[in-house]
Amino acid sequence: MLSRRALLSAPLVIAAQQRKSLKIVALETDLTIHPPRKPTYDALQTLGVNSGTVTLRLRTDAGITGWAQSNFGAIEGGPQALRALLEHEVKPLILDQDPALPKAIRARLQRGLQYQGLTGLTNFALAASDIAVWDILGKHAGMPVWRMLGAARDRMPVYSMCGWYYDNDNDLSQYKAQIETALSQGYQAIKIKTGKYSLADDERRIRLAVDLAGQGRRVMLDANQVFNRNEALRRGRLYQQMGVFWYEEPLPPHDMAGYAELAAELDVRIATGENLYLKHQFNDLIQRRGADIVQPDNRRAGGVTEWLEIAAIADAAGLDLASHGGGDVNMNMLCAIPNAIYMESSGPQPRMIDGEVTAPETPGMSTEPKGK
Ligand SMILES: [Mg+2]
Repeated sequence: MLSRRALLSAPLVIAAQQRKSLKIVALETDLTIHPPRKPTYDALQTLGVNSGTVTLRLRTDAGITGWAQSNFGAIEGGPQALRALLEHEVKPLILDQDPALPKAIRARLQRGLQYQGLTGLTNFALAASDIAVWDILGKHAGMPVWRMLGAARDRMPVYSMCGWYYDNDNDLSQYKAQIETALSQGYQAIKIKTGKYSLADDERRIRLAVDLAGQGRRVMLDANQVFNRNEALRRGRLYQQMGVFWYEEPLPPHDMAGYAELAAELDVRIATGENLYLKHQFNDLIQRRGADIVQPDNRRAGGVTEWLEIAAIADAAGLDLASHGGGDVNMNMLCAIPNAIYMESSGPQPRMIDGEVTAPETPGMSTEPKGK
């Protein structure tokens, strides 16, 4: 029988054991180069020809492994460069760190990597590290990350990025088929690319998308940075007459003053942010009232830690947030953000009901490949 003293101290011993800090003991990476597929185009880029994925694993002394993937839709050498950053720059800084301190890890990595600049691929590496850290924390707590962060919801409205430019598609038959497929999959909102050709061509593509979507469904446009201020305004006036829900990335991301002018001139919602890095750039855009909807990307904006701060700055300014890209990492973050309105997506969604996808219940980020 335990003494009275032992009985009294038992809960403290258990609490101390539970408090035992985790330690990151190994960083591993894999590189997957995907075979070229039929290219798709937006107004700026060719996607699908050079694509790859870098997988990051952070192993801990408790046997929990945090996973993250960073996907590249273009840039031939991008995955190799990111892998080198993780292996040679991040690894020596993150080993022996406690994953329960993600903000301390972020500060340590930012201090360690600032010499090369905290944007570009450097921030892809920092974001992947942060996502893997949150995967560890969720697994350790036995909860999906969205629940652990204090969720605002358990499902997210999604839209399908389906209306690309294709080779040999002057009659828009491929474009039309892709939109019809997305609608048949249950999406209540679709996004199409604009701006590659003339204003008349844009009008034709938008008209077709709006007609196919019909009453009650939304159509978003994405110009992928290609206009100057005059052209962005000229086209935006037509776009808003056609009743689209948002007008995305009309200008290059650095033209914050141009975004502010455009947002003031047009009634249609201006959406941008997929090419902004860290909360400081978002804060600049938001302070200038340069967007109605902010769109962080989970590689460029930073990981979970940075996203929550960006979302709070946007929320305080009365702005909505939509993710650039989809998947379970975005879902975990978006469900924790009160002003999130959409997750970008494409293809069939097994957990979609009435245009919304339910959040995963797997502990962590759901970044670990199934069956591993
Ligand atoms: Mg975009």
